[in-house]
Amino acid sequence: MKRLKLFVNGSFVDSAAGGIDVTDPATQEVLCEVPFATAGEVDRAVRGAKTAFRAWRDVPTPERARLLFAYQDVLKKNQDDISRLLCRDTGKTWEDARGEVWRGIEVVEHACSIATLMMGETVENVARGIDTYSLVQPLGVCAGISPFNFPAMVPLWMFPLAVACGNSFVLKPSEQDPTVPNRLMELLSDAGAPDGLVQVVHGGREQVEALLDHPDVRAVSFVGSAPVARAVYSRAAANGKRVQALAGAKNHLVVLPDADKRQAVASLVGAACGAAGQRCMAVSAAVLVGAAADWLGDLRDAMAAVRPGAWDDDGAAYGPQITRAARDRILGYIERGKAEGAECLLDGSDCAVAGRPDGNWVGPTLFGGVTPEMSIYRDEIFGPVLVTSRAETLGEAIDLVNANPYGNGVSLFTSSGGAARRFQRDVEVGQVGINVPIPVPLPFFSFTGWKGSFLGDQHVYGKEAVRFYTETKTVTARWLDDAPSGDPNMTIKLR
Ligand code: NAD
Repeated sequence: MKRLKLFVNGSFVDSAAGGIDVTDPATQEVLCEVPFATAGEVDRAVRGAKTAFRAWRDVPTPERARLLFAYQDVLKKNQDDISRLLCRDTGKTWEDARGEVWRGIEVVEHACSIATLMMGETVENVARGIDTYSLVQPLGVCAGISPFNFPAMVPLWMFPLAVACGNSFVLKPSEQDPTVPNRLMELLSDAGAPDGLVQVVHGGREQVEALLDHPDVRAVSFVGSAPVARAVYSRAAANGKRVQALAGAKNHLVVLPDADKRQAVASLVGAACGAAGQRCMAVSAAVLVGAAADWLGDLRDAMAAVRPGAWDDDGAAYGPQITRAARDRILGYIERGKAEGAECLLDGSDCAVAGRPDGNWVGPTLFGGVTPEMSIYRDEIFGPVLVTSRAETLGEAIDLVNANPYGNGVSLFTSSGGAARRFQRDVEVGQVGINVPIPVPLPFFSFTGWKGSFLGDQHVYGKEAVRFYTETKTVTARWLDDAPSGDPNMTIKLR
């Protein structure tokens, strides 16, 4: 059986450690074994990255940008190849996999403008003959820990901007689908990255903790579930590292009765079921305001028409859950929802897909009459399960959304500009869609989750990521244009 390698100092190397099987989620076929790197292997990767950083920080900024230009070109040429790997490892549909790779490429395109993004500021003559200016400098070795649901896009949120800023990078991808991250690093090497600039160590909690505790790691970018995000944030921050930790979500879509019904219903179905609900920006809670509650039947019918299937099935709307355990967890929530008194309007528990009897399938599932104390409302289920609640007014819907501990994404469907403006102003969520169900900003903005969906100060990609991966230094300089007097300067003269 194929054993995945670590990527250390520019080469794929065998690990001395044991590992776990990675399985095809549509068939349970074992695809490879992923090793859990030893402590020594993690340390070797970080030390190699530190050595690479010393040379890379001196590479002129336009030359670093040129690596990113070459990388986006290589990624585009290999988009189908990476997408095929994604389909196999995650079960995503072809269209979804290609979309994921594209969203990652867009971050690399943005990183190509690193020289402009890293410009400092200057104020001339802050005192007579004195100028102050700022330099934006890289940190050193940065580490990234990524989740299973976007094995291409999330690593691409991280390392391209980190290396564009002049850092080196060690990635610990999800152990559930670790092949694509290896391929991404191989392609960066093909594009001309020096050995050691990016490294990949595989594993789970132990390998993450080794990175969080390593004295040579300066910054940690984490994306994953909320409990792990909190643990990673606390440990890395306690170790004095800069941390951004993107966590789970419970994203609401609020529908006002003046919305276009067809658009609202179709958007809800796509945002709840797309990618099998395994998106941090998936809509998992709908709030139907006033007469929009009457659309529940239309929503049920539209969801019932959606069917999952294998990635090479053109008619499949979405693929399997990543593992059998993930599927069983979702089925547990569906049972709990019924026991808690919610009305199960569509039950995807007994979902079968022709020709793939062993896949981790869950059919579209819809609950009505859901209240905030129910676990299916409180918890992130991370499957194609949509819970719906009613509100009498927009204000009531906003209060419901704001009371939720998460704050990743939210949408409002309406034809009223006034309602939209009030919503975008008052809702306490970091990414807001107006008649857009999944409002993920493009990379020239940042991915701005709030509250329980994000721990840290600077978000991923965009200008905030450049601040995250750099340190600002201010220089105050005086150059005398005549011979120095030699008199001791006992006071700071500001006038
Ligand atoms: P996860 O938290 O189980 O794993 C994420 C990473 O952390 C993996 O690399 C894993 O190996 C590692 N890990 C697991 N347990 C750990 C522990 N105890 N200590 C240290 N590291 C540990 O998440 P997942 O199931 O792979 O991904 C799905 C989750 O990620 C969902 O909650 C989803 O909302 C979230 N997510 C959030 C965003 C966002 O932008 N906010 C984006 C993508 C995914």
